[in-house]
Amino acid sequence: MEPIYLDNNATTRMDPEVLAAMLPYFIERFGNASSAHAFGAEVSTALKLARGQLQALLGAAFDHEIIYTSGGTESDNTAILSALETQDGRDEIVTSTVEHAAVLSLLGYLEKTRGIKVHYIGVDKQGRLDIEAYCRALGPRTALATIMWANNETGTIFPVETLAEQAHGAGALFHTDAVQAVGKIPIDLKASCIDMLSLSGHKLHGPKGIGALYLRKGIKFKPLIKGGHQERGRRGGTENAPAIIGLGQAAEQAAANLGCEQTQVRGLRDRLEQGIVQSIGHCLVNGDAGARLPNTSNIAFEFVDGEAILLHLSRAGIAAASGAACTSGSMEPSHVLRAMGVPYAALHGALRFSLSRETSEQEVQHVLDVLPGIVVKLREQSPLWRDKYPASDAEVCNYV
Ligand SMILES: *Cc1c(COP(=O)(O)O)cnc(C)c1O
Repeated sequence: MEPIYLDNNATTRMDPEVLAAMLPYFIERFGNASSAHAFGAEVSTALKLARGQLQALLGAAFDHEIIYTSGGTESDNTAILSALETQDGRDEIVTSTVEHAAVLSLLGYLEKTRGIKVHYIGVDKQGRLDIEAYCRALGPRTALATIMWANNETGTIFPVETLAEQAHGAGALFHTDAVQAVGKIPIDLKASCIDMLSLSGHKLHGPKGIGALYLRKGIKFKPLIKGGHQERGRRGGTENAPAIIGLGQAAEQAAANLGCEQTQVRGLRDRLEQGIVQSIGHCLVNGDAGARLPNTSNIAFEFVDGEAILLHLSRAGIAAASGAACTSGSMEPSHVLRAMGVPYAALHGALRFSLSRETSEQEVQHVLDVLPGIVVKLREQSPLWRDKYPASDAEVCNYV
């Protein structure tokens, strides 16, 4: 059997049509879009088209609201640093405890080196933001509120459209890291008041090393990368034409497949999740069941090490992710699951399955065939498990 890839929140396979769209722009059409001759013009025309494709996926009112960057991380950094430079007299940021490292590590650095005050808003057991605490943290000194659209580990979706209105109520800008949301759920920026949004090509079957920052028309901005007049002077450096064109193609396909995410992908995800919960006891599903990405399932297995399950899955040709992050050589439970207060016994046993439109029914069935055996075996080897459940192999007790 072919290896099974269920780690699409880490990165996705590039769509072959995306590659086909990119290829001519490496050799045949290699021009610099800024050049005033035919070599430049054909690239410049293609870039314009690609910008329109991404604009359509985002529902942005103007194509020049898109600034291309090197990826989600650069977009997040640009948005945060720009807000601090343009919002006079405001030096505070409101964010959540469950953001991606692309946001959290910059904010930690700004706290240390620039004395910026950051308010970290917590989440409940289901991963939902404490909206009251969020509103209380917003004030006359808030430069920016930055809250992710959807969490990469649990798939929990945050009500960013409302959060943006609340930020505006305090006179602050609102940014969202939508790297996991774009291409998976409908987005219509012209109908919202979100000021800035980050996205990344490789999370939606596009190329790596390309992303974009949406910047609403009229919002003050300071570039992170100063250079030439590319991107209307908002991000210097010769355009990465093949990647931008690939991202455009990926965006067009994502738009055409949005329905499939809600039906096919969601259906397979639910089948996988329900199958696991029904056949393996003592596990819990992490995330907001009512507002979750259609492709993501995060399940914590009590009294087993997630890393050990991953290893056995990997030997069976199945690629998933654990909730852990490797920090200086040792495995630390994820900051997201800790923020959610996942019980200790389950904290180290979390797995993330992230599907895509390429995931098949057979693949899901194969995981359901092999995973229960792996968990039962690992639990039999666990002294903690044997102490707690002396003769409970067949018992099924879920607290989902
Ligand atoms: C992957 C990811 C990023 C980083 O994007 P890159 O393009 O890899 O820099 C940022 N935020 C979230 C939520 C992500 O999942």
